[in-house]
Amino acid sequence: MAGPVAPPMNTSPITARDRELMAMPTMADQLPVAFEDGTCWQGICGSCNGCGCPIPEADTHGALWRPLPHVVELDCVGICRACRLLTRFRLRLHPGRRLSWLTAHGWMHAQAPLPLRARLRGLAKAILRFFHQRHRPKDLP
Ligand SMILES: [Zn+2]
Repeated sequence: MAGPVAPPMNTSPITARDRELMAMPTMADQLPVAFEDGTCWQGICGSCNGCGCPIPEADTHGALWRPLPHVVELDCVGICRACRLLTRFRLRLHPGRRLSWLTAHGWMHAQAPLPLRARLRGLAKAILRFFHQRHRPKDLP
């Protein structure tokens, strides 16, 4: 599963909104989302408030909308299969791999690390650049 891990949100008794979100498509159905800068959110993964286990996006249902060109907002509920607990997530995805999530203390921000493949691609480019610089013939007319 790709994407960052979202911290758990507060749990409270199941609300009418929770039931509404549960009836919506899964995040697996709605992702990926892409931004103009090339940032592409392939997936999100929240963790269960009860046991801390990751909740796959196939078990995370809810709404995904784009209030602004550079903001994708998610209001979703993850259902933990192990403890049957519902965990509510409120997230905002941004370009530059930035992510915000709503906590009891307001919006928190973080930047998702580049996936391993992209880091390796960056490394390969750096090696190639080094190679070209090292071996560029300097005495050509
Ligand atoms: Zn759980």
